[in-house]
Amino acid sequence: MPSVVTRFAPSPTGLLHLGSAYSALVAWDRAREAGGRFLVRIEDTDIRRCRREYETAILQDLKWLGLDWDGEVRRQSDHFSDYGHELDRLGRRDLVYPCFCSRAEITREITASASAPHGSSQGRAMGPDGPLYPGTCRHLTPAERKRRIAAGREFCMRVDSARAAAAAGPYDFVDEGRGRIAGQPLLMGDFVIARKDTPTSYHLAVTVDDHLQGVTLVTRGEDILPSTHVHVLLQRLLGYATPLYAHHGLIMDAGGRRLAKRDQATGIRSLRESGKTPADVFKLIRAGLEPGGPKA
Ligand code: GLU
Repeated sequence: MPSVVTRFAPSPTGLLHLGSAYSALVAWDRAREAGGRFLVRIEDTDIRRCRREYETAILQDLKWLGLDWDGEVRRQSDHFSDYGHELDRLGRRDLVYPCFCSRAEITREITASASAPHGSSQGRAMGPDGPLYPGTCRHLTPAERKRRIAAGREFCMRVDSARAAAAAGPYDFVDEGRGRIAGQPLLMGDFVIARKDTPTSYHLAVTVDDHLQGVTLVTRGEDILPSTHVHVLLQRLLGYATPLYAHHGLIMDAGGRRLAKRDQATGIRSLRESGKTPADVFKLIRAGLEPGGPKA
């Protein structure tokens, strides 16, 4: 039985706030109570939105809270070749394709297919974050793909979700609080697996890293549960083991709204500067989980 390995994987697009500190605390607690390992990973694949200053500040705030981690911090932007390598493996099996669409073109396509009386059902399909990609570039011929790439057109890479689902076969995963969950490989449609500017996306990097780092228990907010369906799909396709999952409840503000990174008042930094102690912060976290309490 491998010992428990958990991780906290913030994206440095803002400062640590009560919500993300709670995520870190859950992962830290689970590792420490089992005598396991707690890892910290910086998920900075979105190179335009991530900032080194936020990374430094997040690590300082974790230390101040007493959430000490094991080993080196892994920064995803230092490991693009690992993700590129795994992307190539999927490419060789024809499970991904280049997509040349701009955001505006995708919106136009979705609007057109929604208003067409006999539009394709894929065009109108909804995902957890809104309408799914209508699959426009999936239909391009290999010659047309080559021609556009040779012409210098920008592209991202998408998973051909129907082919990927067929290749993976039925699968499931276990969430500690919810039990066994049947995998839904089509939930996010043909999702982006590599962005236009990097050879990866959040979904690929998180899956590769959890595997490479030997993570056995993924603790994360329940808002990310839809993504878990495609992460387990990728684990199947890439031959990785599937960890145990624990999707926890989210911290709410007094008005019952989810906390946002831009909300200064709930930033760990400003709480600290206003004289609060780590114990006060943990008290605030507990208060933010009431009345529903953590669901995992
Ligand atoms: N990097 C993600 C975020 O900050 C979390 C990743 C995860 O827990 O898998 O929202």
